[in-house]
Amino acid sequence: MRFLRNLVQRFTQIFQRTEVDEELLDELEETLILADVGMAMTEKLMGEIRKGVKRGELKTAGDVKAKLCELITEVLSDNTSLRFSEAPPTVWLFVGVNGTGKTTTIAKFAYWLQKQGKKPLLVAGDTFRAAAIDQLKVWGERLKVPVIAHQMGADPAAVAFDGIQAAKARGYDVVLIDTAGRMHTKQNLLEEMRKIYRVATKALEREPDEVLLILDGTTGQNAIAQAEGFMAAVPVSGIIVTKLDGTAKGGAVLAIKERLGIPIKAVGIGEAVGDLELFDPNEFAKALLGENLQE
Ligand code: GDP
Repeated sequence: MRFLRNLVQRFTQIFQRTEVDEELLDELEETLILADVGMAMTEKLMGEIRKGVKRGELKTAGDVKAKLCELITEVLSDNTSLRFSEAPPTVWLFVGVNGTGKTTTIAKFAYWLQKQGKKPLLVAGDTFRAAAIDQLKVWGERLKVPVIAHQMGADPAAVAFDGIQAAKARGYDVVLIDTAGRMHTKQNLLEEMRKIYRVATKALEREPDEVLLILDGTTGQNAIAQAEGFMAAVPVSGIIVTKLDGTAKGGAVLAIKERLGIPIKAVGIGEAVGDLELFDPNEFAKALLGENLQE
């Protein structure tokens, strides 16, 4: 995984040592906190590590690293696979605050789906901003993926409805619906999310297959409060953490998973369409601790 470089350096330095002493444990604790893993999660992880050291099970820095990797994997383990419907079209609704990388993530998924031989369709459900509609259209042209869009100010639920109908009529496999990330008030925004979800369910005659919440990894644990707002409005089924390249706060992924209890399904690791990785808890744990570093 190509990310978390800043963090990894510190972990690598710690695990280069051989002896497990109080200094190493303190440094490990500090590094977890600096990585934005959060106090509660850091205490939980360090509690387990210290217990293992005391019992004589963790004798070397290598043992500590392996145990930590196992613990982190456990925290992140969940049903991380993305749900597809057996009766196409599959519908994924993308929600999240503006600027978190929602549109870019939709484009990345469209690209990834194309590579799997699937036919995606984009739906410009953020009718609040003309720029959002244009941005999705630009991605659609670039990837040669059709975009269903209405005028700015149109009812986003109606766009979602049309998108799903179009996919059914024209045989598209996966409908990726963009939504607004900001409105006049937070209440308006959440009401709108509910309505889009309701109307999409009606058009589909079942619930959408995924409601994917996009969180910006550079905001660390602050993303949690944001997430709770969306979770109150729609049944969020998966989380995508973006911008994990360029941040030293990648440990927040653990805090997010622990606090929200929703599986992380993918991570964004750059601005290009190929910079999306499906989430693998063990790979993530290893990357966080500086293993398997790609140069
Ligand atoms: P939206 O407002 O949520 O739709 O956000 P955008 O998709 O427009 O993304 C906002 C900015 O974040 C853009 O400049 C994107 O290129 C950038 N971005 C999105 N995902 C990533 C990522 O994984 N890594 C980095 N470095 N930048 C990203």
